[in-house]
Amino acid sequence: MIINVSQLLNEHIGSTRRYNVDGEEGFPYKGKVSLVRTDKGLLVSGSLVTTLNTVCSRCLCDFDYELFVGFDEEFLLHREEGAFVISEHREIDLSEVTRQYTLLTEPMKPLCSKDCAGLCSQCGKNLNLVTCDCIKEIDPRLAVLASLVKDRL
Ligand SMILES: [Zn+2]
Ligand SMILES: [Zn+2]
Repeated sequence: MIINVSQLLNEHIGSTRRYNVDGEEGFPYKGKVSLVRTDKGLLVSGSLVTTLNTVCSRCLCDFDYELFVGFDEEFLLHREEGAFVISEHREIDLSEVTRQYTLLTEPMKPLCSKDCAGLCSQCGKNLNLVTCDCIKEIDPRLAVLASLVKDRL
């Protein structure tokens, strides 16, 4: 995703441009990007939505989910360690910033749904799809309660 910014760079500090973006960086993304001219270059703010394919951390199924990726980064006219730069052709390339922020935003333990039932700890069946006959291990603290309930019955 490359945007030519030569015109904006000729404008005064504070000048703004907005773009709708729609692209592919190994994953599809779309959204809005705004560019503001600063004294050192451009402040680039993005709000993008991407669809990622991942594996549920609970039931291990494959699923696609939408991830909101937002960023504010300055792109500099002069090369600086660790900074995003405006190329000599006066273009900015959004692929690296998009990729980095997507990795940062990606959840560590993705869930296919917030109440995913997961896999049975004994037979390994996906409890979202089937119920199994395994006797669930009872937490020892709950076992005390369970026996109290049983006495009442
Ligand atoms: Zn799941
Ligand atoms: Zn089971």
